[in-house]
Amino acid sequence: MNTEALLAENVEEAEPLYVVHESPVHGRGVFARRLIPAGTRIIEYTGEIVDWEECCRRTEEKGGPIGHTFFFSLNNGMLIDGGTGGNEARYINHSCEPNCEAEEDDDDRVYICSLRDIEEGEELNYNYGLIYEARHTARVKKEFACYCGAPSCTGVMLAPKKRKSRSKAAAQAPASGG
Ligand SMILES: [Zn+2]
Repeated sequence: MNTEALLAENVEEAEPLYVVHESPVHGRGVFARRLIPAGTRIIEYTGEIVDWEECCRRTEEKGGPIGHTFFFSLNNGMLIDGGTGGNEARYINHSCEPNCEAEEDDDDRVYICSLRDIEEGEELNYNYGLIYEARHTARVKKEFACYCGAPSCTGVMLAPKKRKSRSKAAAQAPASGG
């Protein structure tokens, strides 16, 4: 055990409220390590701040917006790329009936906060409300299919129409022929 770990042991606040492991919903997920009361700021959504142009370039580089996106759109028009220098927040899955929500601060920082009490072991999730400007074709819907299993599940992680804030963003891959 290193010094940092020993120090962390003595600092209650240093113990994370969450743990990352395989999710039954999609890939890896983030789970409550202990009871998280409603209204708790659980984790900041961090990553490199990029503009739309850079977001599109990175998306194209990876072959398009497939299944998952780590971009989070800010009110000021910029995006957080959780895939570059981001933390565990990028593994929090989408749900149509979420137990968390994303809150943006006045200083353009985004935090994932609990909407209700969350039991130990429960998977954390929030509604991505994914912005995708291109037509929501069957193929697009399949790419962004939702498996949250909530009774009100819409089947997709996409927002029904354009939303300005507190949303993740999926850049349209240029020259996709659509
Ligand atoms: Zn769903």
